[in-house]
Amino acid sequence: MSSASLASFAIGRPVHGAFTYRIPEALVGRLAPGQRVLVPFGRTTALAFYLGPAPAPPQQAELRHIERELETEPALPADVIALLRFASKHYRYPLGETMRVALPPGLAEPHELPRPSPAVEYFARALPGAEAGTPKQAPAQAAALAYLLAVGGRASVAEVAHAIPGSRETLRKLARRGLVQIEAEEIGTSERHTWSNEARPEELTGEQQAAVKKILEALGAGGFRPFLLHGVTGSGKTEVYLRCAEAALSQGRGALVLVPEIALTPQLVGRFRSRFGPQVALLHSGLKERERLRYWQALRQGNARIAVGVRSAIFAPVQKLALIVVDEEHDPSFKQEEKLRYNARDLALVRARQLGATAVLGSATPSLETLQHARRGKYELLQLRARVDDRPLPEVSIVDLRLERPRPLVQVEEEPPLLSAPVSAAMQEVLDRGQQVILFLNRRGHSTFVVCEICGASQRCDACDVCLTYHLSSNRVLCHYCGYAARVPTRCRDCGGALLKLGAGTERVVAEVATRFPAARIARLDRDSATTPENLTSMLSSFARRELDVLVGTQMIAKGHDFPGVTLVCVILADTSLAIPDFRAAERTLQLLMQVGGRAGRGGDPGRVMVQTYNPESQPISCLLSHDFEGFSRRELERRRALAYPPFSRLIAIRIEGADPLRTAEAARQLASRMARHLPPASRGVRLLGPAPAPLSRIKNRTRWQILLKGPTHDALSAPVRAVEEHLPALARSVRVAIDVDPGALL
Ligand code: ADP
Ligand code: ZN
Repeated sequence: MSSASLASFAIGRPVHGAFTYRIPEALVGRLAPGQRVLVPFGRTTALAFYLGPAPAPPQQAELRHIERELETEPALPADVIALLRFASKHYRYPLGETMRVALPPGLAEPHELPRPSPAVEYFARALPGAEAGTPKQAPAQAAALAYLLAVGGRASVAEVAHAIPGSRETLRKLARRGLVQIEAEEIGTSERHTWSNEARPEELTGEQQAAVKKILEALGAGGFRPFLLHGVTGSGKTEVYLRCAEAALSQGRGALVLVPEIALTPQLVGRFRSRFGPQVALLHSGLKERERLRYWQALRQGNARIAVGVRSAIFAPVQKLALIVVDEEHDPSFKQEEKLRYNARDLALVRARQLGATAVLGSATPSLETLQHARRGKYELLQLRARVDDRPLPEVSIVDLRLERPRPLVQVEEEPPLLSAPVSAAMQEVLDRGQQVILFLNRRGHSTFVVCEICGASQRCDACDVCLTYHLSSNRVLCHYCGYAARVPTRCRDCGGALLKLGAGTERVVAEVATRFPAARIARLDRDSATTPENLTSMLSSFARRELDVLVGTQMIAKGHDFPGVTLVCVILADTSLAIPDFRAAERTLQLLMQVGGRAGRGGDPGRVMVQTYNPESQPISCLLSHDFEGFSRRELERRRALAYPPFSRLIAIRIEGADPLRTAEAARQLASRMARHLPPASRGVRLLGPAPAPLSRIKNRTRWQILLKGPTHDALSAPVRAVEEHLPALARSVRVAIDVDPGALL
């Protein structure tokens, strides 16, 4: 057996390590790294990725042949494979599974490359009267029509043909009879609403110019250059990205722009679309699978040169990638919280370094990790201190609820009104002037807990260790973690006492505004009301068209929206995120508040931000008042240094979950004691924290434990983590362990 015909493969299954197979002589030297093949694996077949020739194994093991090639050109380009190899190693996730994460839906499965999908898809729509006109003598036609009516009157022809074989022809016959209409729909139309015709501003502001100049220098010179573009809200960061992307394109190279959530940033997408048209490929999960695949293939083939997408777009096959932008780089959504637990912002820098590309991290409130890099000179700092057209930053004022709310305890059942007197007065003024208001409260539902007035017991989810939220619109109590829903109990199930609905959510804000301002046109924007991307976009655009006066919402309204009519932003309760048991709670609070506040005063009229709080002296809130992000980050960084938290250390969280509380706890203890035995000498500064129940100690009937490792470098942490990995096969099967490198929230 010649070793030339042995090759090593990563398997698209959750298994570690490379596997050796025989390949046909004809393929030797023809397979390229990353190429997808089908291999026998155990008793089944599996998707596998070619890695390279393999040496002959030490003993003559029975090696199997691959089944066949799935493609003649690798789906993944070499530079993406290099990034995936890094990600697999850094995040300790199997390489084959990591590669699958990078692929669009059609390619992550063990099948041949789908044929390039056509640009239009055909839909059949039942016309009025179709039901009555159902042809009795033609059972095939009757069946197709019945299907169509059953699914709501409209479905893609492909779907009907899949459900009822042979019905493509049948649908055509129905169309000739005038019972059905066939409609061609361009693929990508679900994005059409994001096209806008915004003009390219003639002149950049001085600060924009200076920033663009620096970035263009870096693009011209080549080589890895990371920048932090720290610009206040409304300072025109997007225009900087656009100019830099133009430059990359004019050099015949490509750009990649990562944004937190596409559905929440239609304006940014719209600007890229109107500037670059079909050169832009969108990558996010709101697209139909075929759309995603088509965009992905357009990039791979070089027909599209700019990718705009959410975190997974970090793996987009952009050709000759020269520029990587991460907008709102501090946003927690760049961290994936399952499977490959990567942070796309961090991988953006890795990819830029590997390629010798320019990286631009943009934010009004950079993460402390990024700020620290900028302070140490690892990233070049570019600042936009002023808003475009020198519009003033909104004036911030605090409403101290401790002073606003004391009142005689007359009606226990009712909490004090959510809108304080000063906020109501300000709203009245703004609405009278025909301007718009945003009210922000980061909790959905009506009441965040339902509690017994006699015994104090709160209504909790049986499967999760959390309180149930009362939802007025569905008149149900819901668990926000597992989706459990139940009718609202009238009495306490322990003692029969009356139940109070306490703790405000967005629904209650809407109810109160409606009572207080009956003439105002109000909408609520949260995950309950924005159930589809279309839904969300239509709400955002009707607010932008000023068909609404007041928008009440959760953090969904905080993102980069540009609503020139908004002159007042009120934070209903700033304290909600302060109390979260996480070392980043203060940072997140300030980021969110600045982000929401930044929605005010972006048009011709100056804006105001009013913040209701019980903690006016807390760091984030007092810094918000003085627009003092600098001061906040300086003090917060000192605190992090003193406690040895990132960016002054590296963290790895071991998350242990299981249905059986005792076994799970036991597994956590076993793992921790193994880790303790493998800690490096104390001088290396590695600390082991835990095992401890996670702050959310039970979700969906699964008990959750955490062990935290903290140390100066990843290297210093590797021995104890390896001890965990080696011990995994010995653990009870019912216990699941995840290794979370550079974790986000520690909940
Ligand atoms: P940021 O992302 O920093 O919050 P945006 O990029 O949304 O800011 O810009 C705010 C507004 O200013 C947008 O409406 C944008 O079109 C406009 N704008 C940006 N740059 C310029 C410029 N140089 N001249 C005129 N308008 C500009
Ligand atoms: Zn639950």
